[in-house]
Amino acid sequence: MKSLCVYCASSDRLAARYYALAGELGVEMARRRWTLVYGGGKTGIMGALARGVKAHGGRVVGVIPEFMKARELEFTEADELISVLTMRERKMLMETRADAFLALPGGWGTLEELMEILTLAHLEVLRKPVVILNQDGYYDDLLRLFDRIVDERFMHATIRGKFGVARSVDEVFALIDGWSHQPGDAKWFQTR
Ligand code: AMP
Repeated sequence: MKSLCVYCASSDRLAARYYALAGELGVEMARRRWTLVYGGGKTGIMGALARGVKAHGGRVVGVIPEFMKARELEFTEADELISVLTMRERKMLMETRADAFLALPGGWGTLEELMEILTLAHLEVLRKPVVILNQDGYYDDLLRLFDRIVDERFMHATIRGKFGVARSVDEVFALIDGWSHQPGDAKWFQTR
C-alpha cells in the first residue's frame, strides 16, 4: 500500500467547498488504497480529509507534535498517531513515510511544508511526485511567483518539472501515476 502525504489547512473557517473537496479526495484515496500521511489534526481541511479516508475504509497515519496533542488537536481515530517533539521532526517523518506529496489549499503551515518539499526536490534529495491541487485557482498567485522566479533567473526553468498542478482529484492521481523524475540542470548548479 502506498502513502500520500497531504499538506492542508487547519482552519475551520473556510468556505464549505474546501472541506467538500477534501472529503472527495479522502474517498478516492481509500478507493485507490493510498494511506494518508498527514499532520494528524482534527480541524480544518486536515480533519475533513482524515474523516473522509476513514469513513471509506482507508488508512490514516498522523504525525503530530506533543504540544498540539496537549491542546487536543489530534485526530484520535487515526490508525497510527505518531507523537513527535518538534515541527521539524514531524516534517521529516512525514517525508520519509510518504511515496508522493500533495498540497491542498492552506495557510503558512501548508506553504512551509510545500516549500520544504519543493526545495528537497529541487536539490534532488527527494525524487518523489509533488502535486499542488489548485482548487478554484487558490494557488494562481504562487504559481505566478514561481514564473517570476524563473523569468528573473532566481532559479532554473527545470524547477517546473519538479511539481505538477492539478485542478481536480482525478487529475491528482493522473499526475502521480504518470510521474517521471525530471532532472534539474546540472550546469546551472555549477555556474550559478
Ligand atoms: P495551516 O496551513 O497554516 O493551517 O497549517 C496546516 C499545516 O501545518 C498542516 O499540514 C499541519 O501539518 C500543520 N498544522 C498547523 N496547525 C495545525 C493544527 N491545529 N493541527 C495539526 N496540524 C497543524
